[in-house]
Amino acid sequence: MGYNAPPMSLRYDLHSHSLASDGTLSPSELVARAAAAGVNVLALTDHDETGGVAEAERAAIKAGICLVPGVEVSVTWGKQTIHVVGLNVNTGHAPLQEGLTRSREFRNWRAEEMGRRLAKHGIEGAYEGAVARAHGRIISRTHFAHFLAENGHAASVRDVFKSFLKPRKPGYVPGEWASLEEALGWIHGAGGQAVIAHPARYTMSASKRRKLLGEFVELGGEGLEVVSGSHSRGDNFSMAQLAKNHKLLASAGSDFHGPENPWVELGRLQTLPDGCRAIWEGWQLDECARRAVS
Ligand code: AMP
Ligand code: MN
Ligand code: MN
Ligand code: MN
Repeated sequence: MGYNAPPMSLRYDLHSHSLASDGTLSPSELVARAAAAGVNVLALTDHDETGGVAEAERAAIKAGICLVPGVEVSVTWGKQTIHVVGLNVNTGHAPLQEGLTRSREFRNWRAEEMGRRLAKHGIEGAYEGAVARAHGRIISRTHFAHFLAENGHAASVRDVFKSFLKPRKPGYVPGEWASLEEALGWIHGAGGQAVIAHPARYTMSASKRRKLLGEFVELGGEGLEVVSGSHSRGDNFSMAQLAKNHKLLASAGSDFHGPENPWVELGRLQTLPDGCRAIWEGWQLDECARRAVS
C-alpha cells in the first residue's frame, strides 16, 4: 500500500489503564500488549491521572502505534459517579493538572476514610493493604478490592465490590468528585474531546440517562463510548441509538485494566454499529497511522 493510502482499517482502543491508576501493567507493557493485539491507535486513560502518558508515548514510537494522551475523570452528577474520558488532552495544561490534583487529594482522604470504616467493620489493615498495591500512585477502590479478595473477605473482586465497596456498603465513602461542568472545562481547556465512558453501566433510568446526555451536550461534550469492553452487544446497539439521538460522536474502548481479567482484552471490540459517526474521523494521525497502513 502507498504512503498516502487512506487509514481505512486502523484498529482503535480509546480507553485503557496502567499502573499509573488501577491497571496492573506499566505504560510500556500496556503499549506493547496493544501493539501485539493489533491495535494501531491506543488511548491511555488513567483515573484522574496523566502520569503514565509520557512513558506510553515513548513506547508507542518504538512499537509503531499511535498513542492518544487521555484521562478518565471521576465526576459526581445527580448524586452518582460518572466517568468522563478526555481524549487528545494536552497533559501540560495547568488547569487540567490542578483539577486532577484536587481529585487525587479527595481520593487520598477517601482511602483513609475507607480504611477507618472497614476497620470499624472488623477488617484491619485495609488502608495499608491498598497503599501497598497502589505502588505510590493513585489509590482506587480496585486496590482495596484486591486486598480484601486476597485476604478471604469475599470470593472475588466483583464480590468485594458487591459486599463492601458499593454505595451503602460498609467500605463505601460518599463524597464529591468534580462536577460535569468542571470536568468538561478541564478537558476542553486542554484541547481535548470529552466522552461519557461506559454509558450503559450506570444504574439509572432511561429518562435520567437522557437528562445526563442533554446536559453533557449543552456543556459542549462531544462523544459517547458506544462500544465498551464492559458493555454487552445489546448495550452497544442501544448506546449507538442514544448517540444518534443526541448527535454525539461514537467512541470505542476496552477499559482494559490488566491481563488477570480474561474477559476484557485490548483491541477486542465490536465495530461501531451502522449510522455512528466515529470520534476519530476528524483526527490527524500523522506518522504513526501512515506507518500502520503502509
Ligand atoms: P474508584 O475510582 O476508586 O472509585 O474505583 C472505580 C474502579 O473500580 C473502576 O474504574 C473499576 O476499575 C473498578 N470497579 C468498579 N466496580 C467494579 C465491580 N463491580 N467489579 C470490579 N471492579 C469494579
Ligand atoms: Mn478502574
Ligand atoms: Mn470507568
Ligand atoms: Mn476506565
